[in-house]
Amino acid sequence: MTERIYSDGFVYWIKCTLALQKTKEGTAQYVENTMKSLIESFDVEEEHIRRFLKKVTEENKQRITFKKGRGNKTWTFKSKCKSKCQNMFRIIMDKHARKSSNKLNWDFHDPSVDYSPDDYWWIIAKIYMPDHNEESIRPDQVDPLSIFSMLLHCELFVDVWDNADKIIQVRNKLMHSATYTVTVDESEMKDAFAKMKELLKRDRIVDTSSKAVAEIEKIEQERFFLSNITEENNEMMLRALEIKHDALEYEIKA
Ligand SMILES: [Zn+2]
Repeated sequence: MTERIYSDGFVYWIKCTLALQKTKEGTAQYVENTMKSLIESFDVEEEHIRRFLKKVTEENKQRITFKKGRGNKTWTFKSKCKSKCQNMFRIIMDKHARKSSNKLNWDFHDPSVDYSPDDYWWIIAKIYMPDHNEESIRPDQVDPLSIFSMLLHCELFVDVWDNADKIIQVRNKLMHSATYTVTVDESEMKDAFAKMKELLKRDRIVDTSSKAVAEIEKIEQERFFLSNITEENNEMMLRALEIKHDALEYEIKA
């Protein structure tokens, strides 16, 4: 029993799962800053954003329609507020990497909630996220998959698409592993750590991610000795199992 649990694969699984979580935490401020500058680029008063969020919902399909005109497969937004709300919608769609897909997720928030303007950046970010995050109002309430997927679906993050793509692949391997091990070799694991750190060291992120980078480096170096499992080892295991539990819970909804 003990032999199986503390195999190299399991140790890698723990470390990589924790690093994934740290990578998500390390990008949070960068995502917030980027989304806030997107909102600034709307150049509208908060009241327009508030009303816009009330109107754009899954149930309100007469407001947002997918146009299938020849060579013009795109979304349109029906609103009398031409210059401001229309313009805001166009900017959001311009940044959407899947703007010409009819499968966009408009069920991104709960329109009955009056969000604080401080939360608008997060609500707008959810337009680029997968389903089942509508109740969240902060990044720590969503699975890392939602954040990395958001990076991939928003053109404001085009310079980290390659990293986000790799990290999602690793994340899926880790979370879908039934035996809590990764069926990869050591070099692939090292590559995953490298991709996470590379993402966190990008010019536009690095100012707000140094804590996460240091934590990932510490996780990477942590030693697990079968003969002497430390308190720190145990805590790392429990945290990794919790992350997997949350991920499965998220995927059951999806
Ligand atoms: Zn308006």
